[in-house]
Amino acid sequence: PRRAAAARFDSAAEALHTVFGYDSFRGEQAQIIAQVAGGGDAVVLMPTGGGKSLCYQIPSLLREGTGVVVSPLIALMHDQVDALVRNGVRAAYLNSSQQSPERAEVERAYLAGELDLLYVAPERLGGEQTKRFLEQGTVALFAIDEAHCVAQWGHDFRPDYLALSELAERWPDVPRIALTATATEATHREITERLSLGGAEHFVSSFDRPNIQYRIDPKLEVRKQLLEFIRSEGRDAAGDPVSGIVYALSRASTEKIAAFLAEHGINALPYHAGLDAGVRRRTQERFLREEGVVVVATIAFGMGIDKPDVRFVAHVDLPKSVEGYYQETGRAGRDGAPATAWLAYGLQDVVQQRRMIDESPGDLAHRRRLGQHLEAMLALCETVQCRRQNLLGYFGQPSTPCGNCDTCLEPPASWDGTVPAQKLMSTIVRLQRERRQKFGAGHLIDILRGKETPRVRQYGHDALATWSIGGDLSDQQWRGVVRQLLAQGLLATHGEYGTLTVTDAAAEVLSGQRTVRLRTEPERAARSRGPRA
Ligand code: ADP
Ligand code: ZN
Repeated sequence: PRRAAAARFDSAAEALHTVFGYDSFRGEQAQIIAQVAGGGDAVVLMPTGGGKSLCYQIPSLLREGTGVVVSPLIALMHDQVDALVRNGVRAAYLNSSQQSPERAEVERAYLAGELDLLYVAPERLGGEQTKRFLEQGTVALFAIDEAHCVAQWGHDFRPDYLALSELAERWPDVPRIALTATATEATHREITERLSLGGAEHFVSSFDRPNIQYRIDPKLEVRKQLLEFIRSEGRDAAGDPVSGIVYALSRASTEKIAAFLAEHGINALPYHAGLDAGVRRRTQERFLREEGVVVVATIAFGMGIDKPDVRFVAHVDLPKSVEGYYQETGRAGRDGAPATAWLAYGLQDVVQQRRMIDESPGDLAHRRRLGQHLEAMLALCETVQCRRQNLLGYFGQPSTPCGNCDTCLEPPASWDGTVPAQKLMSTIVRLQRERRQKFGAGHLIDILRGKETPRVRQYGHDALATWSIGGDLSDQQWRGVVRQLLAQGLLATHGEYGTLTVTDAAAEVLSGQRTVRLRTEPERAARSRGPRA
């Protein structure tokens, strides 16, 4: 006869005190737990650090049977199960990293009704074999963590998640709870539809992280800027170095930047998926246990790492989406104390990301979605309004200016950039019309500034009508103009060399029907600004 793990506690409050040692529930935890423990479905949108895990862990202890948790990250599964077992919860996982004897023991325990919680990788739960196996025991609930992975709109789509819609048909009486920390309204809708959660109750927390100060600077010499940033922010009140994460796009740059910081006396370590598993494990442990470790990582780092006192998250490359940016910066200041999210981005980032989108596999609709993600990220970077307001607005949450971001603390001036925009655009248009040529920003700026480079001479570009008409702006200022015009959708970049073309919208600027406002950029970047939080 099949057996079910008996309910371990009568009340949620009792489980909270006894197992987890906490005094009270946070935010909507109590309501979510009541909904799921009572057999209802739930969709939970809660920022990182909000306390999502308890929302399915406690109902699993209150209901008869085993709570089955779908989680995409093996490392995270491992850590969560370890922590639960330390708290006396009977938890285990099934994933591809296991040997057969270990797996057989987990399966036996489940069937014997000896497990409160069972973590399963999504690709496993999609398979018929695993479903048949689970049917032989009693499932208390299904928790689908990182539920945004089911959404094609999102930045982290995983096809394995699509198969989870079947759970509703196979287990119509078992409650299901879907949780995510990153959700636009579009993603929220997709989660609800694709996981057949039409009858669920929805719990949407505020996504504001008021203790995080958001700052975005133009990228000049990024390593120097980063060093200056860490030197100005990287110490606590007692003068001790603080922990932080630096995100870079490529494995090679994480290593170079970590080495550069280390040369300058910062306790920095690289982290990326190409490093040996043992090295990664040690780096992660040092980050968790030592004070003042700065990890320079690709996005492989951070998911599921529960370190409350990360004081800063820095991005030296542009994130691909606002969701990604929000998720990564969300790893700062989980303890509620002041923390900083600093991002440096430049023209090259836009060119590089455009190229990656153009070259990405997948259909046109997919590339278009990636393009929209990039545009939203650029809009956040170039806004002259409150960063937080922009960020929360992206998640469909209206707010007022926060007083704790760079644009609130130091409102950016703007200037009339119509004339420089016209000079640049007409250079692009002339080259294309008269000579069927396209160039990237570097060469166009050389033309405008009247630099006699070998290339200018080779092409005879000193004969152009726009030759040397832009000497009033510096190289750096011109690059800022190009970047902002790209972000405003007046220019487009293509291919490996980032050749520039004008968009349809540019016609109005060229004909003088539309003016262009540009953000005044600091001559130097990475200044420390105003009081935090
Ligand atoms: P999320 O999954 O939403 O990022 P977690 O579930 O990992 O968040 O919780 C974040 C941190 O908050 C963890 O250290 C957790 O133990 C703690 N926590 C969660 N709920 C409570 C609570 N009610 N009281 C105190 N601490 C809590
Ligand atoms: Zn603000």
